[in-house]
Amino acid sequence: MAIYNDTLNSAIIGRIRFKNPINNSILVEHWLHFIDNVVESPSYAKPLVSRCPGCSLHISSYANVKKSKRKYRYSCIASYNALTAICFVDIVKRGDNYLLRPSLVELQQKATKQYDLVKALIVTPTPSTTTVDSSLTDVVLKYIPTPVTRSQLCQLKQDFKFTRTLEFYTDGSMMAHRTDQCVMGIG
Ligand SMILES: [Zn+2]
Repeated sequence: MAIYNDTLNSAIIGRIRFKNPINNSILVEHWLHFIDNVVESPSYAKPLVSRCPGCSLHISSYANVKKSKRKYRYSCIASYNALTAICFVDIVKRGDNYLLRPSLVELQQKATKQYDLVKALIVTPTPSTTTVDSSLTDVVLKYIPTPVTRSQLCQLKQDFKFTRTLEFYTDGSMMAHRTDQCVMGIG
């Protein structure tokens, strides 16, 4: 399979050695690829892969894997999100190595695309903030007993925070406009 490695910023070729369906993670053994015949054009030559003897991608805490009462030891293994894996079956054993049918470029592109897709789907949860009812301490709003009205007015206050001029429409109950005695009410 091919999978994108975000430390390397590139896709790697590997083999799934352990699946954990609970958290959707997989342990992938790293395989290195090389072109079997340098004389041929790289685009034509099929890539061969062989087990990585150990590189910077290796996470030693995953080195020992217990599976079906058997213990396995891997020289280069790391954990990945299973959803980002691009699996392929077109491999042919050639001696100690394996010959890949799909091209490396194709796998590289597919794995990168899949990684980006999965990353976009994971919605990072925003930390839940407990909304404090600030309107209760507001000089005017604290006199409004109905919570719904208070919250509506609070929203209006927020909406018009930066408005320099406001226009009010009344039903005609406004009196003594532009004076200190200005009142507005029902009835
Ligand atoms: Zn490696």
